Amino acid sequence: MASISERRVPELLVPAEGRPRFRSDRASGLNESVIREMTRLAIQHNAVNLAQGYPDFPAPEILKRAAIEAIEADINQYSITWGAKPFRDAIAAKYKRHYQLEFDPEREITVVCGATEGMIATLTAITNPGDELVVFEPFYENYGPDSVLCGCTRKLVSLRPPDWSFDREELRRAFSSRTKAIILNSPNNPTGRVFNREELACIAGLCQEFDVLAVTDEIYEHILYDGAQHIPIMNLPGMRHRTVIVNSLSKTYSVTGWRVGWVLASPDLTDSIRKVHDFLTVGAAHPLQIAGVTALAQPDQYYTDLAAKYAERRDALLSILDQVGFRCFRPQGAYYIMADISNFGFSNGTAFAMHLVEHVGIAAVPGSCFFAKSTFGDQIIRFCFPKKPETLEAAANALRKLQE
Ligand code: GLN
Repeated sequence: MASISERRVPELLVPAEGRPRFRSDRASGLNESVIREMTRLAIQHNAVNLAQGYPDFPAPEILKRAAIEAIEADINQYSITWGAKPFRDAIAAKYKRHYQLEFDPEREITVVCGATEGMIATLTAITNPGDELVVFEPFYENYGPDSVLCGCTRKLVSLRPPDWSFDREELRRAFSSRTKAIILNSPNNPTGRVFNREELACIAGLCQEFDVLAVTDEIYEHILYDGAQHIPIMNLPGMRHRTVIVNSLSKTYSVTGWRVGWVLASPDLTDSIRKVHDFLTVGAAHPLQIAGVTALAQPDQYYTDLAAKYAERRDALLSILDQVGFRCFRPQGAYYIMADISNFGFSNGTAFAMHLVEHVGIAAVPGSCFFAKSTFGDQIIRFCFPKKPETLEAAANALRKLQE
């Protein structure tokens, strides 16, 4: 799939014929991230950016102060590669408090540069080229490149609209003796689906039957609506040592640019993950890990308020999208809305997203970048809503142009 905007390629990299000498097979297997490209197009066209999922409102004051204080206290050198001890202790306390899960900070916690690094470090540590990964479709865009970089094959299992549930037989057929892991992202980006206990039990059963790990991306754990509950699959019977949890400060504390995340796994897995992490990045920003201690100590009210604010933003965007003619899938969690565009008569979501960013002043993500097998994404685009009321207001005004 080609990138959606045209750009010049330095001449040195363009071979007279065949593959460029200085491009690895791995790099050749990658496409530019459509999500991040849409942000650049939003800037270029001065459009309201509802594409890449990050807040445009300030991070909590208390966290900014904690980060500044850590820098002023001269916590400015490397931390231990797998994370500053106070932050690992805070992570252990968080999981005990929210999920009654216990982790040994010395042997089971690795602090990484965001969930993105957590995922690639984990997959690099646990897979060999040729292994298979089970991935639900639609999927967060990065899981494709993650598989390519590890030389793994993805086995895609459809989440079926309108409720984005999966067929148990289809899931079973995706598992084989070559399967090493299933990637699980709940609350889910892009669909907003939150897996329930029965679904998780089905996945856990297959993991045990086929001797497979669950690698979970749980970064939207606190962004839940309408009574939805997040259950870490690690808490299901038989899954404590068969699950790797990947998470970060980014979404819960509105600090996506800090790049501070963590990976939780039993000691043998952590041992491999820590080595890969060390040689990839050495470590996450030390003062920001120290500020993370303050983040994880927030009272329950913080999380209640977070979810309530996001529910308001979700409802505001759902209402405007509905008014101007989209058919929306109502998310149970995370901060994205998948919207069907068939009322607008465009041949596909990419053409529609280009029209939106160039002529309507809204950046969104074409659904196709979350699908590899099904063509369902061709008539879908994804909007995000971690935005100030005035941004959503500006988005509403722009989107009304679609009614003209
Ligand atoms: N998770 C965000 C999204 O889907 C983006 C994350 C990123 O770009 N690293 O938009």
